[in-house]
Amino acid sequence: MNLSLKPGREKSLLRLHPWVFASAFQTPDVSIASGSTVSLVDANGQFLARASYSPHSQIRARVWTFNDEEVDKEFFRRRIKAALNSRRRLQLDGQGDAQRLIHGESDGIPGLIVDRYADVLVLQSLTAGTEFWKQTFADLLVEETGVQIIYERSDADVRELEGLQPITGSLRGELHTSRFTIQEHGLKFNVDVQHGHKTGFYLDQRENRRRVGELSKDRDMLNCFCYTGGFSIHALANGARSVLSVDSSADALTLLEENLRLNNLPAERHTSMEGDVFQLLRRFRDEARSFDVIVLDPPKFAPTSAHAEKAARAYKDINLLAFKLLRAGGILVTFSCSGGVDATLFQKIVASAALDAGVDAVIIEHLSQGVDHPVSLHFPEGAYLKGLVCVKK
Ligand code: SAH
Repeated sequence: MNLSLKPGREKSLLRLHPWVFASAFQTPDVSIASGSTVSLVDANGQFLARASYSPHSQIRARVWTFNDEEVDKEFFRRRIKAALNSRRRLQLDGQGDAQRLIHGESDGIPGLIVDRYADVLVLQSLTAGTEFWKQTFADLLVEETGVQIIYERSDADVRELEGLQPITGSLRGELHTSRFTIQEHGLKFNVDVQHGHKTGFYLDQRENRRRVGELSKDRDMLNCFCYTGGFSIHALANGARSVLSVDSSADALTLLEENLRLNNLPAERHTSMEGDVFQLLRRFRDEARSFDVIVLDPPKFAPTSAHAEKAARAYKDINLLAFKLLRAGGILVTFSCSGGVDATLFQKIVASAALDAGVDAVIIEHLSQGVDHPVSLHFPEGAYLKGLVCVKK
């Protein structure tokens, strides 16, 4: 089926951006089957792209290909093979046995996330188009990776925007346990693929955890929003003097304790604290506590730019408090994974937090998501994780 865009609305497609908004269509037809493949043409009937149609979403179509080619199982086999080959070329084996194999738009499959945890794949289908082809993806993943177990974690909130219900469960094979032990830079982590956040682990922070570990030797660290202790475990393994890990999730802290034991790390140097970071930072300030390294890795405060202002206040609040708790010469490692807050805005927020805290600091490193979470040049929205390493003067 050919769908025409309004005059001028082909521009973003000509720049190879894969999203087409409802307002770009001459007639935004809601009767077309969810996820089915349509051909997009410009106002003169010229072919632009082949895309999946999502009748309930503001992002009404997502491009599979800008070429006039068939979209079928073999098409997706080529895309999946390309993604797997690019990971092989990255030579990540030395970093462990967990990595992102398919990263949505940037791997040419908008809406599909596939993470590998040792011998299990976890698949997240986020859009009408990926839902339509899900069983094909599962077959192809088994054929191309040889992995027999695929667990589905399609329970992200964004599915609502596509008119899709949350779905979790085995897609191929059976999970005999929800806990898997993975390796990351020589350290072990238990990952709960059924109940953990996202697909179970924050793979995008792998490189940053290693780096922060290096920076934490002989230091007192405060790890805020610690989840299952990624930064804490790396810090302790690198000889941190003490680590205080804070999270609001008791389940995450239980896994953190398991991870400490798995790696035979000195429990006496570590403290877990269940609570709200916003409140605890205030309490620590009132108690005049101080640290050499503070990590702030909060959840997504602004999924889209519509939430940017509220998110900015939250980022400023925690960064301001963290600067106050930092000793002179101390290091603040601060992240934002909000799509709605770009790198420039994030840096401005951190700068104004330092100013209001009465602190001078320098940025010594800019951090981002790991190399297995690539960013297509044509899809800048893919660059969601921003991190700054600041040293307090
Ligand atoms: N740094 C972690 C990932 C952090 S994800 C890693 O490397 O694995 C964000 C975490 O923030 C989640 O574990 C979530 O439970 C926690 N969280 C969300 N809001 C919180 C709050 N207000 N106070 C404390 N923890 C919170």
